[in-house]
Amino acid sequence: MKIPGLSTDCTRAVWGAGLAVGLFAAASALHADQDREDAFVEANLISIFYHELGHALIDHLGLPVFGQEEDAADVASILLINDQFDEPSAVDIAYDAAFGFLAEAEIAQSEGADVAYWDVHGPDEQRYYTLVCLFVGANPDERNDVAEDLGLPEERFETCEEEFELAQDSWGPVFDDLENEDAEGKLVFEGTRDNLTADVVLAEVSALNDVFSYPDDIPVRVEHCGEANAFYDPSDGSITMCLEFEDHLRDLFAEMAD
Ligand SMILES: [Zn+2]
Repeated sequence: MKIPGLSTDCTRAVWGAGLAVGLFAAASALHADQDREDAFVEANLISIFYHELGHALIDHLGLPVFGQEEDAADVASILLINDQFDEPSAVDIAYDAAFGFLAEAEIAQSEGADVAYWDVHGPDEQRYYTLVCLFVGANPDERNDVAEDLGLPEERFETCEEEFELAQDSWGPVFDDLENEDAEGKLVFEGTRDNLTADVVLAEVSALNDVFSYPDDIPVRVEHCGEANAFYDPSDGSITMCLEFEDHLRDLFAEMAD
């Protein structure tokens, strides 16, 4: 899937040749940085949206979860990234989603926070390695260089193909049923438009509605929540992507770029 309408072209006046070339290069670099930052934000919004969809599926379909639900939602997200995109886009998204976990870990470390072993989510570094491992395990021959590039130790790499197969055996039949189901339920976008989060989420809602249906509608809200967060709310079966999250992701990008 390509996300439409997320990059704009700059038009520039042409001045004296030498000056124009220098300014053009500087402007291009700035523009490239902005594009890079936006791509990082988009990739992480997609990865997080898929994670929340994992929670939604567990609840709406009454799926059994053998282990931590947060881990199951992470696995659903990685499989959907692998399934829904062509190879170059999937690789780009996996890199940026992985970097998102690393940046979270770096910020926590720089603030002197202890690793939150008590948290319902696994530690960010562990989520990073699991993402890399499962993504590489989906296509180990072609993604060997991704594993090397992202520092996945050989010891873990050895089990990644099997780990992916187990994940696929768990979530794969669920996704297959959603494709074959006569169900009427769809993802229903609600909330504020004309912002990057809404653009990304609307593109995902549209693409996923082309392939999946659910027993009931799943409301997808993009709105201000007063915190940088994204969550599934079992009380009304809805996914919320908070508008504040985008700024947090831009902070993560700045951390990563340092
Ligand atoms: Zn979660």
